[in-house]
Amino acid sequence: YKTLRLILGDQLNLQHSWYASQDASILYVMMEVRTETDYVWHHIQKACAFFAAMENFATTLIEHGHHRIYLKLDDPSNKQSFEANCDTIIKQYDIDKFEYQLPDEYRLDECLKAYCKRLDIQTEAFDTEHFYTQRDELGTFFSGKKGLLMENFYREMRKKHHVLMDGKEPVGGKWNFDQENRSKLPKNHKPNAPMLFNNNVQAAFNRITKAEIKTIGNINPEQFYWPINRKQAIKLLHHFTAYCLPLFGTFQDAMHTDEWSIYHSRLSFAMNAKILSPQEVIGAAIASWEQNKKGISINQLEGFIRQIIGWREYMRGVYWLKMPDFEKLNYFDHQRKLPNWYWTGKTKMNCLKHSISQSLEHAYAHHIQRLMITGNFALLAGIHPDEVDFWYLGIYIDAIQWVEITNTRGMSQYADGGIIGSKPYTGSANYIHKQSNYCENCHYDRSKKTEDNACPFNSLYWNFHDLHREKLSLNFRLSTVYRLWDKMAPANKEAILTRANCYLNHLEDL
Ligand code: FAD
Ligand code: SF4
Repeated sequence: YKTLRLILGDQLNLQHSWYASQDASILYVMMEVRTETDYVWHHIQKACAFFAAMENFATTLIEHGHHRIYLKLDDPSNKQSFEANCDTIIKQYDIDKFEYQLPDEYRLDECLKAYCKRLDIQTEAFDTEHFYTQRDELGTFFSGKKGLLMENFYREMRKKHHVLMDGKEPVGGKWNFDQENRSKLPKNHKPNAPMLFNNNVQAAFNRITKAEIKTIGNINPEQFYWPINRKQAIKLLHHFTAYCLPLFGTFQDAMHTDEWSIYHSRLSFAMNAKILSPQEVIGAAIASWEQNKKGISINQLEGFIRQIIGWREYMRGVYWLKMPDFEKLNYFDHQRKLPNWYWTGKTKMNCLKHSISQSLEHAYAHHIQRLMITGNFALLAGIHPDEVDFWYLGIYIDAIQWVEITNTRGMSQYADGGIIGSKPYTGSANYIHKQSNYCENCHYDRSKKTEDNACPFNSLYWNFHDLHREKLSLNFRLSTVYRLWDKMAPANKEAILTRANCYLNHLEDL
């Protein structure tokens, strides 16, 4: 072999031009290494999903006539890092060129750049051919402008890629239908059951447990239901466009104790591992809408398209613009430790109990559960963003730093001081009750603020805004919040702050 090509675990893109033709002088390598399994406590389903999907991809490469090495975690020759394994292979096969696809993680990008510098053979990095945008495109788009408003970027993406456009105007006459997308699930409304696959990932599971890798969460390795190959990913995509898209927007923000994914697509793992491209996901959604305009109103489709061509590309752009500084930001100087019940779900707060238990059970929670339940609480309770990131980076099947940290530290914790959000996403029991049935059977009373059984979100909400008044009160989007607070009787305010501090001093007991 002349050339060694490294394929990372989230680069399972069979449509990449690398694979357009077979070449016997090229050797591909994929590997399961401890540097990737150990940097955070991954959910066991996440670790298994990546290993199983990688193995499937490696098999497909052979079927397509490519040459490859697949180093399993327990292979005696596995040196447990990309660089050490590549060194061995380069020597063994007398390779004279090393190639890789640009990683999406800053950490790996630095690692591979440094590796190439020290190699004495030719090296080359390739685009992953996955995203709509280049790494630096968002930076260029906003250069000279004030702020990084997602909405502006999203509209530009729609225009540039002619997605849902009617000439120069957005289809439906509006860019944004968010106002129509905030319904709670009506009583007796049963969403379609999520599409689950029947995979056996026992072998990957055994390798992980035998190596004593610290993981979290539950799994049934004999009935693993996430898509781990392209066929399944495409099936899930078609299931989504046929059965979930018609109500996706309407119930996008809804939460319910009996449901774990409602009308969400659950495509994030397949997309983040690059088994599916964002272009084909958007193409399938639009095609489905075109065939069934009566059944799929424009707000459903726009709500979905916005997440992918808007938020997903936007987060990637912000990541490359702001890293590595971004991962140190702590605007509010929050210092508390994450309560232990984030790892067990054992709390009396029903919304958190449900969202956390579901995350441990399925390695999944939908956006509003992540943002307005677990994220909202961590922000109101003043948890250190490092602790919050560590949790989010491990627990979700789709968690890869470029999209995890921008959502967590940026959108949900406002630790970036407003790079991503124009105000912190906070809510009290009012919001949670409006979007879910969580409060119905809760130990705490959603209508109370100061009593012993008062919902913790209520006092923590006011405490947070009071505490950070200097940093937030000039934000015009928060003027109503501060006006309401200032109108409250001093004794009432004091009782609220006393209740909040009592909860903050006993976070573990909530
Ligand atoms: P759907 O609701 O069906 O949405 C469709 C697709 O849109 C998703 O698959 C995803 O690719 C994209 N999308 C939606 N919202 C976002 C967003 N805010 N940013 C980027 N892409 C988006 N997403 C991840 O992929 N990995 C993460 O580690 C991650 N961590 C998050 C942490 C927090 C605190 C929050 C608030 C959000 C996080 N998100 C993350 C974004 C979002 O919650 C998930 O992408 C989504 O819940 C995945 O489920 P789904 O595929 O069913 O999404
Ligand atoms: Fe959550 Fe408060 Fe509602 Fe309980 S009452 S479910 S803690 S918002």
